[in-house]
Amino acid sequence: MISLAVDSADSYGGGCTTHFSALLLRSLAGRARLLDYPLLVRLNPAIPWKTRGNAAVVLRLSYEGKLSSLLEEAYELARQYGGDPGVAAIEGNPWRPELRALYHKALTAVVPKDVATSTLEALGGLWVGGKGVVGAIASLAALAPGDDHTYELLFYRRPEALGRERCVDSRRVLQVEASLPGITIFNYSPETLEETASPGGPDPVLAGFRGDVPGHLARFSEALCEEPALWAIFRSNQHTDAHAAPLTGELRPYSAGTLELELVEDPEVIPGGHVIVRGEGVEAAFYAETGVLNEASRLLVKGDRVRVLGTVRKRRRGVPVINAEKLWILELAEKKLELNPRCPRCGSRMESLGRGRGFRCRFCGYRGLEGKVTISLRRALTGEFTPRRLPNLVRPPWRRAQREFEPRTMKVEEILGP
Ligand SMILES: [Zn+2]
Repeated sequence: MISLAVDSADSYGGGCTTHFSALLLRSLAGRARLLDYPLLVRLNPAIPWKTRGNAAVVLRLSYEGKLSSLLEEAYELARQYGGDPGVAAIEGNPWRPELRALYHKALTAVVPKDVATSTLEALGGLWVGGKGVVGAIASLAALAPGDDHTYELLFYRRPEALGRERCVDSRRVLQVEASLPGITIFNYSPETLEETASPGGPDPVLAGFRGDVPGHLARFSEALCEEPALWAIFRSNQHTDAHAAPLTGELRPYSAGTLELELVEDPEVIPGGHVIVRGEGVEAAFYAETGVLNEASRLLVKGDRVRVLGTVRKRRRGVPVINAEKLWILELAEKKLELNPRCPRCGSRMESLGRGRGFRCRFCGYRGLEGKVTISLRRALTGEFTPRRLPNLVRPPWRRAQREFEPRTMKVEEILGP
């Protein structure tokens, strides 16, 4: 088995690594067989210098020929395609511990280029290229046997359609969605009922439909009112919480992971509707745009224990801040409300005469030295919360991990068309 990985074969002007990989596969058809679906691998979402999405593609191939010539051929095509691509390749088992560790690091931290290249070289792997090299090398060990995974069916536009508005029928997306068991992921917004499968901008992607069962995704082609030029189906670490490892040590900017914290005060709502949740020496930001995630954070109180998944950004007033992508409620503090006592004569709520001076009833004139009463509020906050627009790696709360995968040899035409 040869694993061939490509990253950053794209640019802000258009193009996309998955689209390039589909073209590469087409040119390899007849000379190579696939031993797995092409793999769409998402890495650390906190990396700011990514082009859209920070995705790499890995091909597991049965290929007659030299590793180095395959690498050179892929790199030459990627360079012609655009961007600053990186290509990496390794023969044999790609899930050796060193490469696996590199993959996990690239999901949650910043991996220096020399660390990635020396790890690969020590195992006999090859690499070539620029900015995309780290992502390509780190992705080689993705989706090992037993890893949770999902699928995405991607449709690409005809060149003459680029620049025009995409045509994807939201009503048809909803109809297809409704006719399938609950195995699709975020192909429409439950709030606006608009399809969310098509990107904006000059991207060659017409639409990408995500779900747990590859066979069902083809049905979404019924929702396309624009003729695609090409389709390809990918296996992916998207929506698996692959980056949800505990953050440890110093919280460095551009790292990602989970952190448990106990609220040291009630959340603060700042201008714009964003919510700041403070723990001991750390803050978590819940942006207004995250919808239900932001709403859930407003219901927290001092003393609550939560787990936050997110990306660490630069310190604010000396304190590291996590941009929240997910919230788990671990333990709720008792929320208490202190009230003035009721009047023993007429039952109205009394007013205070000042500290230690008792209470007076405004209605019947009763005065007394009764104490304040404390009531406990019942709180119904439980479970997990995710943003309205589900980030690429975040697992929706209802989705169960899917770890079974039966590898088989596939012809390129099975996963690529027309
Ligand atoms: Zn009274």
